[in-house]
Amino acid sequence: MNLHEYQAKELFRAAGMAVNPGEVADDPPGARAVAERYGGRVVVKAQVHSGGRGKAGGVRLASTAAEAEQHAAAILGMEIRGLAVERVLVSPTEDIATEAYVGVLVDREAQCPVIMVSAEGGVDIEEVAATNPEAIHKLPVDPRYGIMPHQAWTLATRLHGDAGLARQAARIISQLYDAFVGNGASMAEINPLISTAAGEVKAIDAKVSIDDNELFRRPAIAGMRDPASESAADAKARAAGLSFVKLEGSVGCCVNGAGLAMATMDLVKYYGGEPANFLDIGGSSNPDKVVAALEIITADRGVKVILFNIFGGITRCDDVARGILEAVERMDMGVPLVIRLTGTNEELAREMLADAGMAAVTSMDDVVREAVRLAGGDHVDLR
Ligand code: GDP
Ligand code: MN
Repeated sequence: MNLHEYQAKELFRAAGMAVNPGEVADDPPGARAVAERYGGRVVVKAQVHSGGRGKAGGVRLASTAAEAEQHAAAILGMEIRGLAVERVLVSPTEDIATEAYVGVLVDREAQCPVIMVSAEGGVDIEEVAATNPEAIHKLPVDPRYGIMPHQAWTLATRLHGDAGLARQAARIISQLYDAFVGNGASMAEINPLISTAAGEVKAIDAKVSIDDNELFRRPAIAGMRDPASESAADAKARAAGLSFVKLEGSVGCCVNGAGLAMATMDLVKYYGGEPANFLDIGGSSNPDKVVAALEIITADRGVKVILFNIFGGITRCDDVARGILEAVERMDMGVPLVIRLTGTNEELAREMLADAGMAAVTSMDDVVREAVRLAGGDHVDLR
């Protein structure tokens, strides 16, 4: 789950970090009121789950409260990468001397959290990684011990030659790591971490992703979810307890188990197709989940065929069949359905489907080939 900048900053402040102040407004007069309180010289920032807001015109400097109101009106009417802006963050303008990058993420190769710092902050870090990788310094952190003071110091000296600035940066690097671990984050980032002409180091932007599996024990963070920032399909999948990731292809996939879902997507690609989604209906026996899954998949206009791939272990094939039959009854699918069922109660499932005039195969290769062929255009129903 992604957090907005203002929410991420709250977590950073709670870790004791030096973060620039700010208040959120959801209409232009509200932004003006905040700007007046800060003396008029403010920065108005779009609160959307997207980087690069600055480049998109979603970060604007104002020198008076009236100007802040105008900026807020403009930004609140914007869409940034397809996301409507519903709130702005208003902060006193900082006089920036330097901009650095500091981030923590889970590195799958190193199998531990890795801290990354770069003196080339303020710009896209992916761009720095591509054009100037030696400007990024990485430190894997042993999660048993956390970040050691000397490690934070070494990283900080990559950002600042001045000892006073480096000392402040080292503290912030440690605090960022602690906020990352303490809040169950999968990513925490400050870009830019600035130094001011007056010699202060502070975070003026914040980006945090929380691991969804951490949310059940962190109700305060779970409550930060912004429903407006989530697609209808994602919201529905979450409510139904389905793991769903939208992709751009035409073969809608409905699979039980994440591993089988990955293998199915690989096979779709192998036979020349493109998966429209990753969808794991899980190990449970629940027809409602199947119905929800089919509703999510068929709502995607790019889908040309729906591919069921069920390996019945704990999942019972007859329950999946019941879900399919229920869904077919409840809604007009509009696209052909191809089904592979094997495992627990497979015969019963096949009978139930046959009664309704539907066929199911047992071979994964066969069903995927058929799905890819159907997605190609010439619809031949398996029924
Ligand atoms: P992003 O583009 O979504 O990453 O948004 P940021 O919060 O990082 O803002 C983008 C850029 O706007 C920063 O890198 C700064 O250069 C500039 N900026 C943001 N806040 C201030 C500020 O208070 N003062 C000044 N001078 N520039 C700012
Ligand atoms: Mn930024």
